[in-house]
Amino acid sequence: MTQDKIISAVAAGAQVRAFACTTREMVERCRQIHNSSPVITAAMGRMLSAACMMGSMMKGERDRLTLQIAGDGPAGTLTVTADSAARVKACADQYQVIVPAKPNGKLDVSGAIGAGSLTVIRDLGLKEPYSGSVPLQTGEIAEDLTYYFAASEQTPSSVGLGVLMNKDNTVRRAGGFILQLMPFASDETIELLEQNLQKIPSVTEMLEEQEDPEAMLRRVLEGMEMEITGSRETVYHCDCSRPRLERVLVSLGEKELGGLIAEGREVEIGCQFCGSQYIFTIPQLQHLLKESRH
Ligand SMILES: [Zn+2]
Repeated sequence: MTQDKIISAVAAGAQVRAFACTTREMVERCRQIHNSSPVITAAMGRMLSAACMMGSMMKGERDRLTLQIAGDGPAGTLTVTADSAARVKACADQYQVIVPAKPNGKLDVSGAIGAGSLTVIRDLGLKEPYSGSVPLQTGEIAEDLTYYFAASEQTPSSVGLGVLMNKDNTVRRAGGFILQLMPFASDETIELLEQNLQKIPSVTEMLEEQEDPEAMLRRVLEGMEMEITGSRETVYHCDCSRPRLERVLVSLGEKELGGLIAEGREVEIGCQFCGSQYIFTIPQLQHLLKESRH
């Protein structure tokens, strides 16, 4: 098992900021948790890859990022969150969606998602989280994020994401890159980058040749001097816990909690991100009810 990782770099005298990641382990873990169909695994895997890189761009220990895609296709809504330690988790409305492959044999992610919107929520510990939403451009996710960065954050960017499945529907390759142009980027740099993006193979083809984020960045940034500025692990991780759920139950308030107790059954809550089950017995609920009164 190889460790998923994110490489960050600057290129062309810091005119370009770049990130690349390999994410096979986290996407396979996600697939196992949710027992998802290939097209949903691919959609969640692309979002996880983008989210881990976007999360790693945040500074504060408690900062949180949420990517949400809501479409009118059979997949419904897909949600991925990341923290600044590049720990990510995903959930979806529907895990068993099957749509015909595209004519080129690739999984039809946009067909599963349909038309809709991409929302990015950044919770940076301020009073209100920052939230930006754009209409989906293609539903292939990378192009939608590229559009989001330009339209909502005024940062010209290029996003590449890819997930390739094995014949047995396990994850074979996953990863991606994000390039961001600084405001002082020259026309020459922009032109060179555009040429590179035209000629590079897809993310999954690059990962098939070499499963190495640094090698991917060297191809995308070919012809520019590049300096690696960081390397970190990234992982699928759910931070749910019993105390956290207890706080949620307490926050329901006396009336709701009292109602649950009156039904006379223990309450079972499943975490939508990792599948963990938490059971609360009637005496435990009564204890929480007491707390909610304080
Ligand atoms: Zn969980």
